[in-house]
Amino acid sequence: MSRKKFLRQKEQREKRRIARERIDILFTLAERVFPYEPELANRYVEIALAVQQKARIRMPRKWKRRYCKKCHSLLVPGRNARVRLRNGHVVIKCLNCGHIMRYPYLREQKARRRDSMKEATGGNEGQTSVKGGNHSGSE
Ligand SMILES: [Zn+2]
Repeated sequence: MSRKKFLRQKEQREKRRIARERIDILFTLAERVFPYEPELANRYVEIALAVQQKARIRMPRKWKRRYCKKCHSLLVPGRNARVRLRNGHVVIKCLNCGHIMRYPYLREQKARRRDSMKEATGGNEGQTSVKGGNHSGSE
């Protein structure tokens, strides 16, 4: 690999890192101003989306579900979003435009549980693993 190419890759990585940081800041600001200036919060979301698209990165997990995919408003459960659990999915409804988004829920929970179990017991998963996805009530 040429040195020039190497440098370009490094630059790309750096750009993406900065983009993620900006997205983080923008969503944090959006959440902060939402209670008294929801319009401004939505502007921050728009900017965050522009940053994400320009840098061609995925939306960080943390914020992925915090805005409406259709009208791009910041979603705050209990204020402008309704969140329900259904068949192993998180169903989020944007109350601004009525758009409904579904995200898998159980798989993610299981993965997380598996991770924490690995740490805690060192591979004693056989007896405690949840089958059928009927495990609820523990937060
Ligand atoms: Zn919407």
